[in-house]
Amino acid sequence: MANKRYVQLGKVRSVIRELFEYGNRLRAERGDDKVYDFSLGNPSVPPPEEFNAVLKDLIENSDPVALHGYTSAQGALPVRKAVADYINGNFGDHVTADDIYMTCGAAAALTISLCALCEEGDEVLSFSPYFPEYSVFAATAGAKLVPVPTDENFDIDAEALRAALTNKTRVLIVNSPNNPTGVVYGEEKLRAVCDILRQHSASTGSTVWLLSDEPYRELVFGGERVPYVMNLYKSSIVCYSFSKSLSLPGERIGYIALNREAEGREDVYAAVCGAGRALGYVCAPSMLQYAVAKLLGKTSDISVYARNRQRLCTALTSMGFKVIQPRGAFYIFMQCPGGDAEEFSQRAKQLGLLLVPGDGFGCRGYVRLAYCVSPGMIERSLPAFSALAAHYMSGK
Ligand code: PLP
Repeated sequence: MANKRYVQLGKVRSVIRELFEYGNRLRAERGDDKVYDFSLGNPSVPPPEEFNAVLKDLIENSDPVALHGYTSAQGALPVRKAVADYINGNFGDHVTADDIYMTCGAAAALTISLCALCEEGDEVLSFSPYFPEYSVFAATAGAKLVPVPTDENFDIDAEALRAALTNKTRVLIVNSPNNPTGVVYGEEKLRAVCDILRQHSASTGSTVWLLSDEPYRELVFGGERVPYVMNLYKSSIVCYSFSKSLSLPGERIGYIALNREAEGREDVYAAVCGAGRALGYVCAPSMLQYAVAKLLGKTSDISVYARNRQRLCTALTSMGFKVIQPRGAFYIFMQCPGGDAEEFSQRAKQLGLLLVPGDGFGCRGYVRLAYCVSPGMIERSLPAFSALAAHYMSGK
């Protein structure tokens, strides 16, 4: 017999993936222009021109054996050095090349980090709503994901965090800009979080780690600033991905950065390498490692997302829907009139609108819209949103 947990995980796809696959079937049936797919956080803008130029240069001017060969398990040294220099130059002097581990995106970075930090039975906290795969990653590490409620604007509620901490708490994951709400946590709130974690660690004698999941760091609007957790808390890890900033989700490239001042840093980095080894996440794609090392801090044209956000928020609000204007990432978390997200999402589907029910994100009564889509699709989708609004606002 196959392993029961993995059979279950393989058979029951995430709600997001399920809806995306449904969209593919619907497109084949109805035609592309009749499906308004807001399901998946797959960037709609191409990688920046520099990406192609860097790849071309690598292919034409590198030793092909080295370019396509295995790197060190934790990533090529010059790449880790470039990442460390970038972090130190932009956020504060926190890491060396030996604190960096190159990964296949943030998913691998998170799984490795949680496995490196957690023992069987530990608890991993995350503010809700949260990226649903966190519960899978935590379970892989033998830990349990514990959601921590946020306030009415989906911002940090320090008292709720205090109440959620136990002597089993090992890690707090923060994800800002946030998927699915688009909230960006401010420095003051994060400082309060760090004070609480420090107090708790001191009273239990066991460090609670702060793990910052940052695939959306650069995707902010209106000059928003995303604080760097290493400036606020020593026992911190950043899980970064180039999937969204450079529009490279299919290339699977990101990294783990460990604060060199972290408690037991040497053993934790060894555990990161050990977890990477145990999970088979060694030697992230080598050509991509060399490419991103030359593109640190660059982004694809994110002005498209800013315009999409504005257009959708304005249109949805004028139709009577309740949305909080996102300050980062490329998602809107919209309240469902009637309060039943599953039913709302089903009705939307009938109109060709694919909206992810928020229950899987640990928050009932909302749907998530990924607006990393073409502006043309947004325009075509508006009559369907209007029909949906008419159905609910007229009391059915
Ligand atoms: N964390 C969050 C909050 C995400 O939204 C995603 C992907 O959408 C990931 C992690 C995984 O990203 P990656 O493609 O880098 O594995």
